[in-house]
Amino acid sequence: MIRKLLRRVFRRDAAPSGHLTSLPVARHGIRREHVSAAARRTCEGLQEAGFKAYVVGGAVRDLIAGIEPKDYDVATNATPDQVRGIFRRSRIIGRRFQIVHVLFGNETIEVSTFRAAHDADTLKDAHGRVLRDNVWGNIEEDAARRDFTVNALYYDPASETVLDFHHGVADLQQKTLRMIGEPRARYREDPVRMLRAVRLSSKLGLALDPAVKAPIREMAELMENVPPARLFDEMLKLLFSGHAVECVKRLRDEGLHHGLLPLLDVILEQPMGEKFVMLALTSTDARIRAGKPASPGFLFATLLWHEVLANWEARKKARQVAMPALYEAMDEVLATQAEKLAITRRIAGDIKDIWALQPRFEKRAGKSPYRLLEQLRFRAGYDFLLLRAESGEVDTELAEWWTEFQDASHDRREEMLQPDAGPKKSRRRTRSRGKKAEERAAEDGRPEAEP
Ligand code: ATP
Ligand code: MG
Repeated sequence: MIRKLLRRVFRRDAAPSGHLTSLPVARHGIRREHVSAAARRTCEGLQEAGFKAYVVGGAVRDLIAGIEPKDYDVATNATPDQVRGIFRRSRIIGRRFQIVHVLFGNETIEVSTFRAAHDADTLKDAHGRVLRDNVWGNIEEDAARRDFTVNALYYDPASETVLDFHHGVADLQQKTLRMIGEPRARYREDPVRMLRAVRLSSKLGLALDPAVKAPIREMAELMENVPPARLFDEMLKLLFSGHAVECVKRLRDEGLHHGLLPLLDVILEQPMGEKFVMLALTSTDARIRAGKPASPGFLFATLLWHEVLANWEARKKARQVAMPALYEAMDEVLATQAEKLAITRRIAGDIKDIWALQPRFEKRAGKSPYRLLEQLRFRAGYDFLLLRAESGEVDTELAEWWTEFQDASHDRREEMLQPDAGPKKSRRRTRSRGKKAEERAAEDGRPEAEP
């Protein structure tokens, strides 16, 4: 045991940060057959043309950890134009730093040219966030500008060796997430690394090195300078990592949810909201882990629902007509989020569709239930209703009714329908104009036209 420890310490001394170690299969366990055929062929193509090429980053890390990589990145000393010239089915993408997408069947390999380390010329914002870094460099420099040691591994399928400049393999085997370089400086360059620390340590079951963890709380506010579109991408990765429940809890523990996500701020602090969000995240995690698709629209709809409810309630109290008030509440909640998180227009549309269906589930008389069944988004709306019932927001009886109704025979459906609220005449007498308009709008799922 002690000898093992000494060996480990010795090895660390022998290979200080930034020094190359070339590791054989016995040390990392990746055989070339484990690597996707497309990534292998990309490396082969580049190497045959005389360039260096390695599978790099998350894929190498995941293979060593025994996790199936989501996608593959290849790093090379060929320039994007040279890469483009080697592969018939490839295209150059990106403005800030060009990379090449190489296509094999339905797999896309992202090929990037080694990048140089930052220097005095690197353009930064007032808080030290790197705005542009588009200088090509060598492999050592490329490794040094990656975030965590476990992400700076380069695998060569031809020789089955891993190039490890920052003892990432040892860190991975010792289950530690360690930053390359000084964590505070690296967070200042790119605050998103704080989110990545939480996400990757949850995904891989790694402990945060104390130096990685310590500055997060005090530096969390730097997240405010991150462009909303970038934040949205990272949040999607986090929420769809299959470990969202753990990630969100840890964001809270690290003080990263404040400001970062107004939605988490508010929701996690109200008991009903928290229960609902956690149920939604749990079910998303289960879907992802079972390899099933999960939709961002649905998940964001759940994350923001209690915000919408609170906003809607306030409007109804102020005597606004229910359906238009719901639409205004939806818009306001989405607009508030947009300041921090650039929810794409398409996803925002999905979110609104799901929300707008909810009041329609309350109507169980006449033709409304039939019309609701025909809605394109019925399934998502119904799944959403199930979560609301499970969290205690609506009666489980309502959810059960819909579970039965959607698959019932015509006769059974007719039996299930609730009686209409009496003859039309008396309704006209007892209800106000506003109320009637509101009901019509609810049935159509859209706000009534402005007078
Ligand atoms: P995932 O499992 O989500 O794909 P990943 O580590 O592969 O995790 P990517 O966003 O695919 O994440 O990034 C690929 C690689 O690029 C990383 O492994 C890392 O080497 C490097 N990288 C990504 N984001 C950063 C960053 N913010 N700072 C430095 N290096 C980064
Ligand atoms: Mg990746």
